[in-house]
Amino acid sequence: MPTQFDPPSGTRDFLAAEYGRRERAFAALRSVFASYGFEPLQTPAFERVDVLLGKYGDEADKLVFKILRRGEHEASGEADLALRYDMTVPLARVAAAYGSQLPTPYKRYAMGPVWRADRPGRGRYREFTQCDIDILGSTSPLADAEVLCVHHDAMAALGLTDFVMRMNSRHVLAGLLEVFAVPADLGPGVLTSLDKLDRTASADVIGELVGRGMTSDAATDLVGAMTADDATDLIRKALQSSETGQAGLEEVDRLVALVGAQVPAGRVVFEPRMVRGLSYYTGPIWELTAAGVAGSLGGGGRYDHLIAQLGGPDVPATGSSLGVERVLMLQPDDSGQAARLDVAVTVLGEALAKHSFALAAQARSVGLRASVYLGGSGKLGKQLRWAADQGARWCLIYGAAEQDAGTVTVRDLAAAEQEAVAAAELASYLASKAAAADA
Ligand code: AMP
Repeated sequence: MPTQFDPPSGTRDFLAAEYGRRERAFAALRSVFASYGFEPLQTPAFERVDVLLGKYGDEADKLVFKILRRGEHEASGEADLALRYDMTVPLARVAAAYGSQLPTPYKRYAMGPVWRADRPGRGRYREFTQCDIDILGSTSPLADAEVLCVHHDAMAALGLTDFVMRMNSRHVLAGLLEVFAVPADLGPGVLTSLDKLDRTASADVIGELVGRGMTSDAATDLVGAMTADDATDLIRKALQSSETGQAGLEEVDRLVALVGAQVPAGRVVFEPRMVRGLSYYTGPIWELTAAGVAGSLGGGGRYDHLIAQLGGPDVPATGSSLGVERVLMLQPDDSGQAARLDVAVTVLGEALAKHSFALAAQARSVGLRASVYLGGSGKLGKQLRWAADQGARWCLIYGAAEQDAGTVTVRDLAAAEQEAVAAAELASYLASKAAAADA
């Protein structure tokens, strides 16, 4: 049962070990993104509500966390702002706002939290972190291929190889609607229903399609073809009668060929029933999935007109998003208790406290993490136990005897040895010990 002290459902607190694990993942991703020449972009956590709504379709609009107008306007119950739902719409706004000041093509990455009023579940949060890469200003399939390669390398940098990149194209989907004679006005809804085939029984999806206005026969044919064992071949054959569908197949095949040198065969597969929910995609689309993780690890595609829809220039765009929470579910949990300090400094009496403080500063001056004992007037044994609890390598003991002798007793907690070091030489002594320990 949740208690009043739990964070709101679908959000989490990150204590040091998990925080460290996430930071290491962010650092690895940042370095892959930068290695392909992507530059960083940071935008606000919230946007004006009109910028966010109406870009994703009704389903997604329902998931946007809106922010009520404040102060005297709060009673109106209106929202003028909303938390960002992903990183793509903020990017489109930036492109509209900065236009020609941005390089062409504009290759940017963005990493940060996004918020969705989803029903929380395993691997499904209401606050989660997306790491996005996008390229604006190129219609070339090479841009799509580069995005896919970055995505692939990003997974590799996190030590992950057990995943599949599922490829499709909006043109394949449009071709399918044509071949299966789905009336144009039903198209978007039909695709939304097909998107559920991975997690919903075929019979239920057929029921939903009929509810949307398809005949029972057409719905059964369509779902049958999409879920058949040889679905890929069936769909390839069926699409021969559609020019759009053919173009879509060529798009997918070309992309798979382009990434072939970098992405091992078998890790990229054509998946005609993969739809991706967002309505703004215009060309190839892809999703990364792995056994044991519900939903996708990442996904993206080409979205050529979204920026124009936001009032910006009609720039072509392609991009991909990796969800850190799901990706980390695949990594072994190596978050054992890490050391908090390198150097723990005892405080053996009120009068000596300022000296202990200065000793800790000397340790910090050579790049070591150091802190004094904050537990009051503890006996030496207790302070040594505290030093060990911190995971410290060295404990500095500074009492009346050391003060008289002008020394510090440096105890090596790993070796259980100690020696007296001249107080004036402490920093260089610790620096050389630390260098030897690192070597
Ligand atoms: P989307 O923007 O919906 O295409 O999602 C891109 C990626 O964000 C997905 O592949 C997931 O890794 C991640 N993601 C989406 N929704 C959630 C969620 N509710 N909780 C955690 N990760 C999510």
